[in-house]
Amino acid sequence: MEPLSLFQSYAMPSMNSQIKASDSCQLCEAAKVTVRFYEDEECWIAECESCGVPMVVWKRHGQNPPDATVKSMLAKLRLVGNEYFSGGEFFIDQKMRQIPDHFHAHARVVPSWLRELKTKSN
Ligand SMILES: [Zn+2]
Ligand SMILES: [Zn+2]
Repeated sequence: MEPLSLFQSYAMPSMNSQIKASDSCQLCEAAKVTVRFYEDEECWIAECESCGVPMVVWKRHGQNPPDATVKSMLAKLRLVGNEYFSGGEFFIDQKMRQIPDHFHAHARVVPSWLRELKTKSN
């Protein structure tokens, strides 16, 4: 297989609708207006409008950043999460429910029922 054909199939996901440009992506749009906790050449971290928790967003439009990039983005989100929740418990939620084609992850609070479950089992 030629490298070019590989690249083409990667660039055009099969699940694609008419959406090609990242102009129509909420996260690419949000990048211009959202107030950030943190930003560098790789990603930005801000409070998610719908969830009200810190969220890291890859600066490139795509769903599969390289592993090393994912690791470093999640590490930064943990740092912001520590500040944001003042040392309280939280977890990294990598499920991309609403915008599946642009990598992002949330730092979410551990639900109280789960916290109780953990205390009991300890
Ligand atoms: Zn959210
Ligand atoms: Zn995007």
